Amino acid sequence: MTYSQRDKQYNWHPYTQHKTAADFPAIVKGKGALLWDENGKEYIDAIASWWVNPFGHSNTFIADAIYQQLTTLEHVLFGGFTHDKAVLLAEKLMQLLPSNQKKLFYSDNGSTAVEVAIKAALQFNYNQGIKKTKIIAFEDAFHGDTFGAMASSGISFFTEAFKGSLLEVARIPVPTAGNEAKSKAALLELVKTNEYAAFLFEPLVLGAAGMVMYPPEELDELIAICNNHNVLTIADEVMTGFGKTGKTFAVDYLQNQPDMMCLSKALTGGTIPMAITTFTQSIFDGFFDDDTNKALFHGHTFTANPTGCAAALASISLLETSEMQQNIKEINESHKAFEAKIKSHPKVKTTRVLGVIFALEIKTDSEESYYGTMRNKLYNFFIQHGIILRPVGNIVYILPPYVISKEELQKVYETIVDAIEMI
Ligand SMILES: *Cc1c(COP(=O)(O)O)cnc(C)c1O
Repeated sequence: MTYSQRDKQYNWHPYTQHKTAADFPAIVKGKGALLWDENGKEYIDAIASWWVNPFGHSNTFIADAIYQQLTTLEHVLFGGFTHDKAVLLAEKLMQLLPSNQKKLFYSDNGSTAVEVAIKAALQFNYNQGIKKTKIIAFEDAFHGDTFGAMASSGISFFTEAFKGSLLEVARIPVPTAGNEAKSKAALLELVKTNEYAAFLFEPLVLGAAGMVMYPPEELDELIAICNNHNVLTIADEVMTGFGKTGKTFAVDYLQNQPDMMCLSKALTGGTIPMAITTFTQSIFDGFFDDDTNKALFHGHTFTANPTGCAAALASISLLETSEMQQNIKEINESHKAFEAKIKSHPKVKTTRVLGVIFALEIKTDSEESYYGTMRNKLYNFFIQHGIILRPVGNIVYILPPYVISKEELQKVYETIVDAIEMI
């Protein structure tokens, strides 16, 4: 039996209805933007394996840093100890983050990075004797699958079964074209109640919603509203961080900086699971007290894992090379050229581009559900043609590794055109 067939005996996959799912390809090798399955079939990874892998698969520069670290100090507990790589990574990130970010808290994945930010926002208020127990988030937001992160996510089928067990979250419309005033008015109404500790958002691009984009000027105004009403702001940069939007962070497009940021996914170049929540000095100071009970009582066993920190340091040094910055620019230009060609296609409803992210909405007669028929047909078509793309309903998006070649990217575009014509 193949690995693909043997897989089903024990493995339970994410977001999968196993009764109706086909056998999954078993990937055994990766290099650059390419993956190969056990039968030798080649795939272009046009979504950087869920947005984690900007520098390509099996990157030897990051792998060498990991090997060095594994054979020097693989892990040490971060409670009561520190280590060189956590210090170096913190110092490095401080050069890249918005200037108001002064403290880092390490965890393991995007959801926990968000969880830490939410808990910090709630306890920041609690420590001062202020009762603010609710959160504000966007409609259609995605912040992860642990309880706090899930509660903040607005895509209903992810959370439907858990209603009643969740943190209270109020939703405002995303300020896309035509919805700017509604979004601001909804936020203003909520912040005036003095019940909300924080506004949590994906800056400029809502990834899981289908790469829904909105302008920085609008986010600046939303942050200003929060600032004026003592509501903390949390930028979830788990997807957008480390160059995806054309700048290091999406908040680099803003005038107003958030109070907290959540980082993960590309942080380690898609190698070791790791995440970081970052804070302003004033939030940190809200926990800084002679009273032990005012400390942030949160931690994970693998917090600030040295191997993860070494991978992150290597990844950031790759991101900073002029070659990688040039790749990001070229992918953006290439996306724009493709957009100009495809947007007048009779089956295309809308297109959008930011940084290395391209998205296109296919015209449909009815509302397409997240994992609906059209989505599955498109997904299977792409897989058959050796392209890994995971459409969201009728939205097809590309978020390639920065090292994808021109030819590979052209093949992705051509296959998308074929798919639109097939559908
Ligand atoms: C993927 C994602 C998360 C969750 O990260 P995990 O590592 O899957 O827990 C949170 N926020 C955003 C914006 C994401 O894209």
